[in-house]
Amino acid sequence: MAKPTSFMEQYKAIRAECKDALLLFRMGDFYETFGEDAVIAARELNITLTARGKDESGEKIPLAGIPYHALDAYLGKLVKAGHKVAICEQLEDPKKARGIVQRGITRIVTPGTIIEPSMLDEGCNNYLAAILQEGEALGLALADVSTGEFMACELLSTGDALSSELAKFRPSEILHPASLKGRSLEAIDCQRAAVQAFSDAAFSKEATGAALERQFGEGWAASSSHTALALRAAGAVLNYLHETHLDAIGHISDLKPYFSGEAMVLDEVTLRNLEIFRNIRDRSAKGSLLEFLDKTETAVGSRTLQRWLALPTLSLETIGRRLNAVEELIASTLAREELKFALDGAGDLERLMGRISCKSANPKDLIALKNTLLRLPQICRSLESSESDLLIDLREELDPTSLDEVVDLLERAISPDPPTSTKEGGAIREGFDQELDRLRAALRDGRSWIADLEAKEREDTNIKSLKVGYNNVFGYFLEVTKPNLSNVPDRYIRKQTLSNAERFITPELKEMEDQVLSAQERSIALEQDLFSSVRFEIAASSQDVQRLARAMGELDVLLSLATVALDRGFVKPRIDRGGGITLRESRHPVLDLAMRGGFVPNDVHLDREKRFMMLTGPNMAGKSTYMRQVALSVIMAQMGSFVPASFASIGLVDRIFTRVGAYDDLVAGQSTFMVEMTELANILNCATVDSLILLDEIGRGTSTFDGLSIAWAMTEYIHSTVKAKSIFATHYHQLTQLARQLPGIVNYNMAVKEEKGSIVFLRAVVPGASDKSYGIHVAKLAGVPNQVVKRANEILSEIEQEMVLDGKTRSRANRYTQLIFFDEGVAAGPDPSPEDPLLDDIRNLDLDATTPMEALNTLSEYQKALKKR
Ligand code: ADP
Ligand code: MG
Repeated sequence: MAKPTSFMEQYKAIRAECKDALLLFRMGDFYETFGEDAVIAARELNITLTARGKDESGEKIPLAGIPYHALDAYLGKLVKAGHKVAICEQLEDPKKARGIVQRGITRIVTPGTIIEPSMLDEGCNNYLAAILQEGEALGLALADVSTGEFMACELLSTGDALSSELAKFRPSEILHPASLKGRSLEAIDCQRAAVQAFSDAAFSKEATGAALERQFGEGWAASSSHTALALRAAGAVLNYLHETHLDAIGHISDLKPYFSGEAMVLDEVTLRNLEIFRNIRDRSAKGSLLEFLDKTETAVGSRTLQRWLALPTLSLETIGRRLNAVEELIASTLAREELKFALDGAGDLERLMGRISCKSANPKDLIALKNTLLRLPQICRSLESSESDLLIDLREELDPTSLDEVVDLLERAISPDPPTSTKEGGAIREGFDQELDRLRAALRDGRSWIADLEAKEREDTNIKSLKVGYNNVFGYFLEVTKPNLSNVPDRYIRKQTLSNAERFITPELKEMEDQVLSAQERSIALEQDLFSSVRFEIAASSQDVQRLARAMGELDVLLSLATVALDRGFVKPRIDRGGGITLRESRHPVLDLAMRGGFVPNDVHLDREKRFMMLTGPNMAGKSTYMRQVALSVIMAQMGSFVPASFASIGLVDRIFTRVGAYDDLVAGQSTFMVEMTELANILNCATVDSLILLDEIGRGTSTFDGLSIAWAMTEYIHSTVKAKSIFATHYHQLTQLARQLPGIVNYNMAVKEEKGSIVFLRAVVPGASDKSYGIHVAKLAGVPNQVVKRANEILSEIEQEMVLDGKTRSRANRYTQLIFFDEGVAAGPDPSPEDPLLDDIRNLDLDATTPMEALNTLSEYQKALKKR
């Protein structure tokens, strides 16, 4: 580009380079924003909006600026608010520039490309995802630029595969080809992420192939095990990083293949219902399983724990190795204490290395790297007597000898307590570079010569009050007060007159000053060069450091799991492929802790035969809690943790589905019932015999009659066709009759005791169906008039006697259902009207040959017909 002749020309050219970003334009000590950008920046950052000059049409140009040293804080706010921010720097020293200072964009910061520690949550990964689709297949790549993690896979676009995958990693930014449409785009759009339509060309085979070769070397793709779609997604990520000027990414040294089939699937709804990462109430981490389990000492450990929790494995071997390691750590108090001590306060190796590769690491970062590497021998010593395979492997991976050279270089090159920036000088250690030492000596000599000058000149001139001073205009000077002026020698050159003193210089003083200033300038420039080359040299070890970081993260998680298991009295689960779940004295880990001993433990037993538990009991009896604790125990076991029980045996679960008949969704403006049915459809379509299905009060979103029918049909389908292990908590205690017809269904209920007309919750799960729904008790407690309560009891007992849905008595039952639910206006009493033809339709529905979608459509027709009456 030709050198711009005016500032405006330069600005416009740069502005055009980053159309969809907000541009921060460096001018001296400020980053300025102009025009539309200024209006946005002023609003988002709460800074003053002013105006500068006029544009072609004579309008004033809005302007808002932020001081350069506060960039990170402001940048963080802008990116968090969803803006893409381009940073334009001065590329030459303004003092030396001729004409307009050369400027250019050095970074475009987006939510998925942050490397600044102040903008990242240290315990969380920050993923950038790219997705493309071809036919039914999807390519998905995920990169965390701050840590160097990079992985890709291919999956099917059917069902909720994509949203489940995204729910695991919660990327902060998602890229897709501009041409992507349909369900996959919808799945992307409902993530809490910045979504970027990226050019189709950037996803092309050619462009992505070239990007991968640039990053991993020629011919790499051919020898990798990735599918073409996975590779293209990964290449698109690299292309995007390039576009944001993140080119120094040597720490992204490998693209890991990963298969969504290696981990248990926990979809978004399930993660939310089980409060894995956040609670349901205020969406914070408080009370979540993550918070409960996280006793890690390091940020790497905390991120590793999150990953384990999001991806409980399906590998018996991995689970076994982890459990054995946890068991061993539980047994050795000494090893635990030593490891805790060695890990506490360790630096974030992954992100330190990320910053080193991206050239943004400062001197303190390098010292943090060194100090963390120096902890390794202690960590390895603590693991010396380990016997479990995983701990032995980790000890080997944590062996520091491969990084001796790095430690040695850091030791020699960087001052032990350096400044944050290389601009101040003092980052490079004495003795590392001869030239630097010489410049520093010159600097010291010059300064001490000047410091000595005062005494020497006082003696020579006999002026006792003579002073040496410094200001920015003249540099060093000698100051003599008015009464002493007669004693000033001729060699002094007058520079400035003050009210009661005069200031002088001497040729020697100026010479020494030049020496000091040039030595200072040169030594800082040299230090910056040296620092950059040390940083560059260390970046070459990024792969080793990252391997180490990962090992350290795993060790930290194992230690955390051991600590929690010990504190809370957890048991080591037995894991197999038997398809059963047996828990004795099982507890809900989080509630058990919160209730300090008040929690009542319960047993669970499900297997391939008795696989469906119908759980009844009044509101507040503890049904939801019970189901959650079963799911949490399975997740914990498969991530390698001990579980809250006195005995646990768990057959690998490939996926957990939960569905709570919630009313919260009403707030989101969606029809609760539609949401509920869509999710049910998903469960029925995706669950396998190895899945665990937890249904909590399904059918609440519609009339009792609809709800009961759906629940009934669902139960039959899950029991006989899907055959997954299931627990169904329901207030339709009519469903308990199914246990008589279907061999895999067992009834349980939450025991309660009636005492003086009120209910006492025993919190115990006992065999059998609950005999009452207790709704009327609650009505009574709530102060509903006695007459109504009495009448309700009468009606209830009549219905209970007769509403047996086994064929013969159905029409009578129907009559009551109609009476109660559809014919509210009609006075009580037998209704002679003939049976509703709709009921016959329902009865004749062949559920085995009906897809959930068809069922939903049919239902909707019924509903329409009913509403018309
Ligand atoms: P339900 O789903 O039957 O309405 P919940 O599972 O929501 O009941 O439980 C209601 C409350 O009962 C919980 O908030 C908890 O305080 C308490 N609770 C549940 N299970 C237990 C238990 N096993 N021991 C002690 N308290 C429990
Ligand atoms: Mg409940």
